[in-house]
This record gives sequence, C-alpha cells and structure tokens, in this order.
Amino acid sequence: MAIRETLASLLGGSRPSDLDIRQMVNDAVAAQSSGDNDNEALEAEIAQLKKKLNMAMGAVQAATAQLMALKTELTNTNGAVKQATQHATTAKATAEAAADGLTAVEARMDALVEKLGTASAPTKKKPAAKKKAAPKKAASKKTGEAHPENCSVDGCDNEHRARGYCAKHYQQWKRGTLS
Ligand SMILES: [Zn+2]
Repeated sequence: MAIRETLASLLGGSRPSDLDIRQMVNDAVAAQSSGDNDNEALEAEIAQLKKKLNMAMGAVQAATAQLMALKTELTNTNGAVKQATQHATTAKATAEAAADGLTAVEARMDALVEKLGTASAPTKKKPAAKKKAAPKKAASKKTGEAHPENCSVDGCDNEHRARGYCAKHYQQWKRGTLS
C-alpha cells in the first residue's frame, strides 16, 4: 500500500501542481493579453505618432513649398524692383541729361544773346545784331545791308556766312579775335 500512498501522495501532490500550472497559465494568459494590450497600445501610439509625423512632414513640405514660392516671389520681386530701379535710374539719367541739355542750350542761347549784344558794337550792322532770334540771312537782309551776301569786314569780299561775316571772319568773331 505504500506504493498506492506514494502514488496517492504523488497524485495528491500533483493537484497543487495542477493549480499552480493553471495559475501559471492564467498568469501567462493574463500577461499575454496584457502584453497584447501593451502591443495594441504601442501600435496605436505608433500609429498616432506616424500620423503626427505624416502631418508634420506634410506641414514641413507645405511650409517648404510656401517658402520656395515666397523665395521665387521674392526673387521675382527683387528682379522687378531692380528693373524698376534701373528704369528709374535710366529715367532719372535721361531727365538729368535732358535738363543738362536744356541748361546747355539755355547757356548757349544766353552766350549767343550776349555775344549778339556785344557784337552789335564792333559790328557795322547794329540792326542785324538786334534781330537776335531771326535767321541770320533774313536778319542781314532785313537790315537792308548794302551787300548782304558779302562779309562786312572792310576789304573782305568773301561770301557772307553768318552775323554779317564770311566764314573766316565769323570764326574770328566767335573766338573774339576779330579786330
Ligand atoms: Zn571776311
């Protein structure tokens, strides 16, 4: 009977073992299920993170695209501004050149008027000198000069060129070297 007892004890001893195993299995299942839960939670978190990452990537891409567009716009704007500045500079230069030209013309006119005024003294044709704005030939002719087509310098019979002088004497008169 010792064997039976032994067997019984062994079997009896196996009872708690069964319980232990069941518990272990339960624990394992619980752990497994909790592990699944953890995995699911992790997966959900990862999915959310992925979503956030995608959104962030999208935002970054959008921002990058926006930046590129802005950069292009800025470059274009810079180009436009440069062009406008160039145009303005050119326009300003043109205006200045025109103003300078006007000033030069005015100065030239003043000089001519002055010369005409001073020229009237040494010149024999005072009336001609007074007709400042009139065409040279017309001025000479209107004054009723004796020889409007000839130089007014004594002893010079050269053809009249301007201001009552021939080309040679007109040049001298212009330079102020005419005696
Ligand atoms: Zn002459």
